[in-house]
Amino acid sequence: MKKIAIPIVLFISLIGGFAYADENQSKTTISTENTEITVESTSQSELSKSKSSEQDTVSTTTTTESTTESTTTSTVETQNAHKLVEEKAPIIEKQAHIRNVGWMSITNDDNAYIGTVGRNLPLEAFKLKVQSDYTGDVKYSAHVRNVGWQNFVQSGQVAGTTGRALSIEALKIQLTGQLAERYDIYYRVHVQNFGWLDWAKNGEEAGSQGFAYHAEAVDVKLVEKGQTAPGNTVNPFKLNLSLTYNAHVSNIGWMSSLKNGSIAGTTGRNLPLEALELHLSTNSLGNVLARAHVRSIGWQNWTESGKQIGTTGRALPIEALQFKLTNSLEKKFDIYYRAHIQNVGWLGWAKNGEIAGSTGMGYHLEAIEIKMISKGSPTPSQGTRTFVSQSSIKSQAIVSQLGTLNWVGNNQIIGTVGKNLPLLGFKTVVESNGFNGGINYSVSENGKDWHSITSDGALSNNSSIQIVKFNLTGEISKYFDVYYRAYVQNIGWLGWAKNGSNAGTSNYNYHIEAIQVAIQRKNLGFGGYTGQGNYLDKNSRRLVFLDPGHGGYDPGATSYTGLREKDVTLSISKIVRDKLLQYGNKYEVIMSRTDDIYVDFKTERSEMSNRANADIFVSVHVNSGGGGSAKGVEVYWYEYDSAYQPVVNQKYHNDPIRLRNSERLANSIQNNIIKSTGAVNRGVRRATYAVVREAKAPAVLIETGYIDNSSEVYKLASKQYQEKIANGIVNGIIEYFNK
Ligand SMILES: [Zn+2]
Repeated sequence: MKKIAIPIVLFISLIGGFAYADENQSKTTISTENTEITVESTSQSELSKSKSSEQDTVSTTTTTESTTESTTTSTVETQNAHKLVEEKAPIIEKQAHIRNVGWMSITNDDNAYIGTVGRNLPLEAFKLKVQSDYTGDVKYSAHVRNVGWQNFVQSGQVAGTTGRALSIEALKIQLTGQLAERYDIYYRVHVQNFGWLDWAKNGEEAGSQGFAYHAEAVDVKLVEKGQTAPGNTVNPFKLNLSLTYNAHVSNIGWMSSLKNGSIAGTTGRNLPLEALELHLSTNSLGNVLARAHVRSIGWQNWTESGKQIGTTGRALPIEALQFKLTNSLEKKFDIYYRAHIQNVGWLGWAKNGEIAGSTGMGYHLEAIEIKMISKGSPTPSQGTRTFVSQSSIKSQAIVSQLGTLNWVGNNQIIGTVGKNLPLLGFKTVVESNGFNGGINYSVSENGKDWHSITSDGALSNNSSIQIVKFNLTGEISKYFDVYYRAYVQNIGWLGWAKNGSNAGTSNYNYHIEAIQVAIQRKNLGFGGYTGQGNYLDKNSRRLVFLDPGHGGYDPGATSYTGLREKDVTLSISKIVRDKLLQYGNKYEVIMSRTDDIYVDFKTERSEMSNRANADIFVSVHVNSGGGGSAKGVEVYWYEYDSAYQPVVNQKYHNDPIRLRNSERLANSIQNNIIKSTGAVNRGVRRATYAVVREAKAPAVLIETGYIDNSSEVYKLASKQYQEKIANGIVNGIIEYFNK
């Protein structure tokens, strides 16, 4: 097809006369956006200022002014030579296929529409053909109910269907070749219930979609370029676009379908949303794509509307969601959505592919609200965050002789280990994803004076450090814990501290060489953290070694009710530990076991205490062998017996100061247990039990009651009574140290 290269002034007779039309100067600006879109909505929020009810529809009309300005010039203004051509006006042959009627007769009457009006008969097919002296013809496409847009056909081919009782709902018509250069083709559709819509042109959509209304008639006109449209061009096409969605919720299953703007899922019930399905009334403009971040799976693939995202029947919560629009839908709409997540609640509005929800936090998504909003319409006010995820920290050390080291991440070593180089300062900063807040830290050089708290990347200090402590701030502190420990000169790594407790030493004059800092989601715990051994003060240190008797394959004494000594001793010892630790830094506690494991009692338990340089050794047991009648409490301290020589404690077993303190400790504990339990006082006694013989520290062995006594066995099994015994032990220890 040859294109004419030279601009030509056309003399075209349309209404009986001749007119000049300088093609280069015609100003025809008709937008292609002449589409009226109706979005169904139940929202009453900021999206829709109108009072919406279930039935209300918010009509959003994308309109552009349709300015057709015809310029008639009497002089030719182009530099190019103009050739005068006289042409016959092209003629369109039109034919409609109507349900119950069949093919109607062909017409080429420019003023006649094809189809029927007022008879409610669906247009099922049509044919168009242009007769002209120009190259090119007409091509056209029908949108058929239950079929969608068909491919373009041309020059008298059939658009639509026949014999299938399928209605045409919309259509598009275009010119080709020279015809397209000379003419605009205008067309409008008569739609069931709507009547004649406005004029579309040159391939724009005309008719309706999503209402299930059939087209009844089509009007087609050729208009030379530059001439006015045959009528209004504002709303040639009506689209009923409704977005609905269903949520699948743990313990509930699939919930009922909701309209655009509704909240899917649940809030306040802690129920994970597991799957979601979106439905779009028509995908002719484009689609809604969605994908879910599912626990243990991660991000799933993008999925078109009509298909499920997430999982069902696998108890896997959705944690985050993304939605986006495609094709023309993306140009005409924004999709907004916000997630309600476990522990946090509603997040802010995300839009067009942004992530809503959380990842890496183990928080399930409970509800999602979705709004498809026409571009230019009021949008939801966007919150500060649409997404939260695992936060981390990074730190940088300043080390004596080495200067400033590189930044290191969560839980990595800040400083040096084993080089005896003091840590002089550091910076720590939280790298948060969505949470506000940060981290504070302070250091002490002597355990008394603290350098003012610095935070979020500020340098902590510039001289050697003996104690350090960290605190999280803002929301970070609500969702995370901070753990840290110090590597101390002459000692090595101390235990882990948490959320503001001290890490390091006082009054030893040992500098810190390195620290490790980690933040961890609340309630997840932290490997290595025992709540003890993180801070040593030479002056006030009171290290209590607790030894829960028996354990593992050695149950100790067992009652006819099934109560085992090893369980009672561990339970009481843990209560004692927890109570002592409530006194801040006054007591440190080490235990021979914190689980149901076997630890040798002949030397190992004592050696653990000796290695830790404990201040006192307290072994907890339950008695038996009283013939069922004996009951009450006894506390033992060491008595030398030549038949049982010390194995690891030759030096101190009979040390008079140790013996004096052991007796004092035994009396203090015995008296306080009797006071808090009211149990029978069987008195303080002496024996050469291995644990009290081999411990360097003042040592006692407590028999807390008789497991074979029918009344005492029930008490010993009860948490309340164990607590009373523990209170007695704790008070005994405190009294011992205070004298
Ligand atoms: Zn025992």
